[in-house]
Amino acid sequence: ATPLAIAAGVQAAAKRGIVVAAETIFEDAPDVDVVVLDKTGTLTTGQMAVEDVTVVDGTDSDDLLRRAGAVESLSEHPIAAAVVEAAPAAAVDGGDLEAENDGGTVSGAEGSTAVDSFERADRGVSGVVDGERVVVGHPDCCRERGLSVPDALESPIDDARAAGRVPVAVGWDGRTRGVVAVGDSEREELDAALETLSSGREIVVLTGDEGPAAERFRAVDGVDEVFAGVPPEAKAETVDRLRTRGTVAMVGDGSNDAPALAAADVGIAMGGGTQLATDAADAVIVGDDLEAVGETLAIAASTHRRIR
Ligand code: ADP
Ligand code: MG
Repeated sequence: ATPLAIAAGVQAAAKRGIVVAAETIFEDAPDVDVVVLDKTGTLTTGQMAVEDVTVVDGTDSDDLLRRAGAVESLSEHPIAAAVVEAAPAAAVDGGDLEAENDGGTVSGAEGSTAVDSFERADRGVSGVVDGERVVVGHPDCCRERGLSVPDALESPIDDARAAGRVPVAVGWDGRTRGVVAVGDSEREELDAALETLSSGREIVVLTGDEGPAAERFRAVDGVDEVFAGVPPEAKAETVDRLRTRGTVAMVGDGSNDAPALAAADVGIAMGGGTQLATDAADAVIVGDDLEAVGETLAIAASTHRRIR
C-alpha cells in the first residue's frame, strides 16, 4: 500500500500546484514544529519597484540608473528587476544577458550599456561599466568594496528604511553616488497563509533586511520571531540552530535560500523563485501561492497516515 499512498500524495499535491521533489517530505512534513519563512519573494510578492532616487551633487540620476540597471540586468534578485525596470531603456536593451549570467562580459545591442566582469557580492552585485567598477547593493556592500557613503546619503538611506523600503546604494570610483529606494508589498494571501501555518507551529521570519522592512513583520499575526539582518551564508546556520527546537520547515525563493532549504528537514521553494532554490527544495510551489505551503504540510500528513 505504501507506494500507492505515496503516488496518491504526489498526485494530490500536483493538483494543488505543488511538485514533490523528495518523497521524504511525507515522513518529515507532518511533524513540523517550526516554519522558517524568507521575507523577500516569500512573505512579499517579490515584485519590487523603484519608489525614489536620490543622487549626490554632480551625479545625474538617469546616468546612475543606466549604470545600475546595466549591472542588475545580470542579477536574478527581485531588487535587480526593479532597478532594471526603472533604468533608461538603452541601459539594458538587447544583448545575450541570460547566457552570460556568470561572470562574463555582456555586450548589448547598439547604444546599450556593456558590462564587464560581473560579480555577485555578499549583499549586492558589481560590474565594470564605462571603465569603472559599479557597485549596486546594501550600503555596507559599497563600504566593503571601498566606496565611501557621503553624509548627504545617510538620510535618504534612513528614510527608505523608515518607509519599509530597501535602500540600494550605487557607487563607483571611490564614492557612493546615489540611493535607489526599492519597495515591495506583502502577498495578498499572507494573513490566510500564516493563520493556517501558525496553528500548532512556531513561525520564524528570516531576512537579510534590517529596520522597518524586516521589523514590521513582528506585528503580523502568527509571526513569533523575526531574525533580521541575517547574511546569506548565515541563513543555513540559523536553520540548523532552530532544529534544536524540533522539526524545521524552511520556505524560500532566492538562490541565497538554497543552503537553508537544504539544511531544513523540509525545504519548500516558491515557484516564482530561482533555479538554485527549486533544485534544493523537497517541494516546489509551482503556483507561487503561499497558502500552498500549509496545503503541502496537510497533504503530507494525510499521506503519512496512509503509509503507516
Ligand atoms: P531576503 O532575505 O529578504 O530575501 P536577500 O538576502 O536576498 O534578502 O538580500 C539581502 C539584501 O542584500 C537586500 O535587502 C539588498 O540590500 C542586498 N542585495 C542582494 N542582492 C542585491 C542586488 N542584486 N541588488 C541590490 N541589492 C541587493
Ligand atoms: Mg528571498
